[in-house]
Amino acid sequence: MTTPSDSVLRVAVVGSGPAGVYACEALLTWADQHGRDIVVDCLDRLPVPFGLLRHGVAPDHPRIKGIARTLESIGADPRIRFLGNVEFGRDLTVADVPRFYHAAVFATGALADRELGIPGEHLAGSYGAAQFVTWYDGHPDADRDWALTARRAAVVGVGNVALDVARMLVRTPGQLEATDIPEHVREGFSASATRVVSVIGRRGPAYAKFTPLELREMGKVEGLTIVVDPADLEYDDEARDHLEHDRRAGQVCDQLAAWAAAQAEAGHASADQAEAAALSAGGRVVRFRFHRSPVEVLGVDGRVAGLRLERTEPDGTRVRATGEVEEIAVDAVYRAVGYRSDPLAGVPFDPSTATIPNDGGRVLTGPGGEPVRGLYTAGWIKRGPTGVIGTNRHCAVDTVDLLIADLDAGALAEPERTDPQAVRDLLAERGVTVVDGSGWAAIDARERSLGRAAGRERTKLGSRAAMLDVAAAG
Ligand SMILES: Cc1cc2nc3c(=O)[nH]c(=O)nc-3n(C[C@H](O)[C@H](O)[C@H](O)COP(=O)(O)OP(=O)(O)OC[C@H]3O[C@@H](n4cnc5c(N)ncnc54)[C@H](O)[C@@H]3O)c2cc1C
Repeated sequence: MTTPSDSVLRVAVVGSGPAGVYACEALLTWADQHGRDIVVDCLDRLPVPFGLLRHGVAPDHPRIKGIARTLESIGADPRIRFLGNVEFGRDLTVADVPRFYHAAVFATGALADRELGIPGEHLAGSYGAAQFVTWYDGHPDADRDWALTARRAAVVGVGNVALDVARMLVRTPGQLEATDIPEHVREGFSASATRVVSVIGRRGPAYAKFTPLELREMGKVEGLTIVVDPADLEYDDEARDHLEHDRRAGQVCDQLAAWAAAQAEAGHASADQAEAAALSAGGRVVRFRFHRSPVEVLGVDGRVAGLRLERTEPDGTRVRATGEVEEIAVDAVYRAVGYRSDPLAGVPFDPSTATIPNDGGRVLTGPGGEPVRGLYTAGWIKRGPTGVIGTNRHCAVDTVDLLIADLDAGALAEPERTDPQAVRDLLAERGVTVVDGSGWAAIDARERSLGRAAGRERTKLGSRAAMLDVAAAG
């Protein structure tokens, strides 16, 4: 079971999102520092790498491009082999891991939406944020068409994903011109009817999860009026204390207060008045509504027609329902109340947290169970769907540290096969069309050339079939 110190360490990293790529980086760093040989297969069920960096981060966030370049440069190391279009659990299984690798690191992220658990949630026109995000970011498995026919929409949730969804809903086609969205998404936005988006939070603004930078970005959208109800900015002692101690929350509330002040200066006596004035001037509106808990999505003929909200009031660090109910007219509801990881066939999974049970990154047989030899995890599937891209770097380093400690302790088994072609042969036998590094390079080049033709950096290919065709043509 011991690994000779001069042998090649073979690792499968499952998932090429930020956590997977940072795990690759940590493994390479270890190999460089210790003069060891290493081969890392980085698998992804998509033909393209980078996970939510490509299919989650909003296309109008160009500052993220720097991170994309970092991930690209890590992925370009010849010791890392990209094996795209390979779904772990189907094309390759846990039983295959010891055949080819000393260890596997599962970094498969999260792509499902959490639900609100209220009546009407499944009416036509009620969506999960992840569904919308995967569409506008051109995820190859997303719905092809998205009807942006709602004039009024509600986004439930007060985190950065809610801000992304609200901002994208009020973007004009011209404002998305320079982005890398695929052509079919561009066409979808050009027909958008959305004019008002209400962002709804159960708690007060002091407890919103927005980051100040993301919130301020909303204020930079041309032609957009941001409406805040001044009554929402009244704080009890608990909230005031929280604001004093949490700088980020303080900045968020300051920004909201600045918008409320601008509204008052413009002579609008109420949020309703500010909204009506912006709309009659031909503008678009994002309106924040705090202390409101959605209790029912209302429908007419099976389609969303409104949202019933119950006012809440602070109760210590939590909120309680007041029984005071209001209805707002909306034609679409987007739930942005969190992402959820899906289990991987054959890998332990804790449904209560929707994560792989682990101890610092060592996969356990179950919550509080024993470590499973050779299996590790990193990123959102390890710790839940929170944290920015950079958070996954520390997370992946912690995991790789444990993997190396186990290697040094002789706790990893030697793989049965050491020929790197063996896993490719098995995948071919199983009928899997692998998109390798050169296939991804061909897709990347095609996307860049499509973008150049339209004066932008990239235009994403919008379907798996198109990606596979381009990869095959090389
Ligand atoms: C809408 C949204 C916007 C965001 N915006 C920002 C932002 O602006 N800035 C920021 O810093 N952070 C942002 N984040 C957070 C950031 O995207 C995450 O922190 C990060 O992507 C999590 O990395 P991960 O590698 O764990 O998961 P992911 O990025 O989800 O990567 C997981 C990878 O695993 C692959 N995979 C899944 N299942 C399998 C399988 N069975 N077999 C093989 N491969 C599989 C997936 O295809 C994917 O490529 C955003 C998140 C969301 C949801």
